[in-house]
Amino acid sequence: SQFDREHLWHPYTSTTDPLPVYKVKRADGATITLEDGRTLIEGMSSWWCAVHGYNHPVLNQAAKDQLNKMSHVMFGGLTHDPAIELGKLLLPLVPPSMQKIFYADSGSVAVEVALKMAVQYWYAAGKPDKNNFVTIRSGYHGDTWNAMSVCDPVTGMHSLFGSALPVRHFVPAPSSRFDGEWNPQDIEPLRKTIEKHSEELAALILEPVVQGAGGMWFYHPQYLREAEKLCKEHGLLLIFDEIATGFGRTGKLFAWEHAGVEPDIMCIGKALTGGYMTLSAVLASNLVADTISNHAPGAFMHGPTFMGNPLACAVACASVRLLLDSGWQENVKRIEAQLREELAPTRELPQVADVRVLGAIGVIEMKQPVNMAYMQQRFVEEGIWVRPFGKLVYLMPPFIITSEQLSKLTTGLLKTI
Ligand code: PMP
Repeated sequence: SQFDREHLWHPYTSTTDPLPVYKVKRADGATITLEDGRTLIEGMSSWWCAVHGYNHPVLNQAAKDQLNKMSHVMFGGLTHDPAIELGKLLLPLVPPSMQKIFYADSGSVAVEVALKMAVQYWYAAGKPDKNNFVTIRSGYHGDTWNAMSVCDPVTGMHSLFGSALPVRHFVPAPSSRFDGEWNPQDIEPLRKTIEKHSEELAALILEPVVQGAGGMWFYHPQYLREAEKLCKEHGLLLIFDEIATGFGRTGKLFAWEHAGVEPDIMCIGKALTGGYMTLSAVLASNLVADTISNHAPGAFMHGPTFMGNPLACAVACASVRLLLDSGWQENVKRIEAQLREELAPTRELPQVADVRVLGAIGVIEMKQPVNMAYMQQRFVEEGIWVRPFGKLVYLMPPFIITSEQLSKLTTGLLKTI
């Protein structure tokens, strides 16, 4: 609408010459219905989160039930069943070392919290100089200040922010493919950086196995095992950002399971509420939490207004239960097999550089950056919702998508590219 164009800032676009936006009337299951009546098959799960699809009766009911009790109370000095129940549901699903749960507002904030936790841990451990971070290139961890500082410096446009942005240590992303041979050279840059800078490094932060918005790259789980060894040897905490990979997307409930490596701190979000609202959590080992707590000032220094929001926690409880009861593994396997088969023909196209599929994620990497506005319009004409970025055209549908709907997605995608 005119108002939207004139006053509403949309992500990563101009206010003077904004990319087109499509007005949504409603969304149900794996479909989005536009104001003009067109119905699109959803290929993005609203940026990885709507795993159960839209307007789900179970999640709607959970929100309504909680709304009738209270939508929010502060978490300072108060607690409530939704927060407790969610914690009880999460603990058996995450790495056994994760024993303390810190609720936060969004993925980016979870990353901020995780980084602060690592710094406060080393402060409490008597090593206040260990306050910087190392990460791998092509990562994405969010858009707030410190989350941004550990995003890929090129796609994260670090040059724009100059000296205002904290300077982190970057090593190349592992080149060994998830399903390929492990190349031991992959770990050497990280080894060198950690050996040289361990005195100032609080932690290594990365997205396990699947790098999302920084490049949609699937790397070899051996990297995590080697990285864990280095962190242990040189006294770095290991932080996993499972905000995008969590809750089944990669074929495991959480991506650490591909490697069997347990982190010291782990961030989850996105699909935590089935995409209904924003909520994240930072999970920590007892060692991290106790070290922080047993040293002045005796507490972790973070406490947002909407911490543990009951409405979000109640929907998250319903979403996690629904996921566990819904046969998500079969759904993700089915989606994976179908994506493998139906995206394979694009390998032959001269404009395609690579095609990769893992779990319910299908990626076509083009040789050249795509014209997003044009492609978006073509996708909408095909009746599908797909939002490419850079050279990457990818699908990550809701787990409840039917085979027919998924075929419509892949067919429309093939026709367009
Ligand atoms: N970490 C990862 C791995 C993500 O994919 C994202 C979101 N794309 C974030 C952090 C940031 O989450 P949010 O957008 O909820 O702040």
